[in-house]
Amino acid sequence: MGMVPVRCFSCGALVGHKWEEFERRIKAGEDAGKVLDDLGVRRYCCRSILLSHVEVIDDVLKYFIKPMGDKREREGEREEENERERE
Ligand SMILES: [Zn+2]
Repeated sequence: MGMVPVRCFSCGALVGHKWEEFERRIKAGEDAGKVLDDLGVRRYCCRSILLSHVEVIDDVLKYFIKPMGDKREREGEREEENERERE
């Protein structure tokens, strides 16, 4: 679930093998458009596949980072505020 397709849905070009480098460079703060150019992903259909997966990954990361805070929020907001102040 949520993995990058091996091929572009629209044109059938191979994109899956480019994802790893793309993701790594995006996380390192590089410009997405520039990385796609470097990887030779020039068609918009292919670019949008990789770009949309960055957003998916970001959403997923949010859920991995948040769970502890969410639990506290349900049990009592005061507790959560105390924890934030300690930081
Ligand atoms: Zn394509």
